[in-house]
Amino acid sequence: MAEGCIFCKIVKGELPAYKIYEDENTISFLDIFPIHPGHALVVPKKHSVDIFDTDEETMKQMIAVAKKIAPAVMKGANADAINIGMNNREASGQEVPHAHMHVIPRYSADGLKTWGKNLYKNDRHKKKLCEAIKKELE
Ligand code: AMP
Ligand code: ZN
Repeated sequence: MAEGCIFCKIVKGELPAYKIYEDENTISFLDIFPIHPGHALVVPKKHSVDIFDTDEETMKQMIAVAKKIAPAVMKGANADAINIGMNNREASGQEVPHAHMHVIPRYSADGLKTWGKNLYKNDRHKKKLCEAIKKELE
């Protein structure tokens, strides 16, 4: 429990939420400002801020719940598709600093765009990034 964290408050029942799923480690409830109605959040009960400080077991639990609820959200919201997303840190658009995943119903002609596409400057640039990331994994 982190002081002042709204998702910790929802976990503890101190703030209301439209819960769709709950187990020992994870809860899922409707996003208050949905991209489309039915948009759900998957939230670990244990407080962490983002993917960087969330342990692997908790990430697995979160993705398992996303996997469980995705077909239910899709059918319940009469959607054609689902986006799964997780924002990590402010520059990514993260507003609530308690790790969570979004399960977002999508419709064939809903007009929403996902991320734009970019290009590498050249092959050298691509190789450099590839090497830089691999080095971090060593
Ligand atoms: P993010 O931008 O990934 O941090 O997403 C946070 C999400 O939490 C946003 O989509 C908000 O609409 C949603 N949200 C904020 N407060 C609440 C709340 N009290 N109950 C449900 N969803 C909330
Ligand atoms: Zn929290």
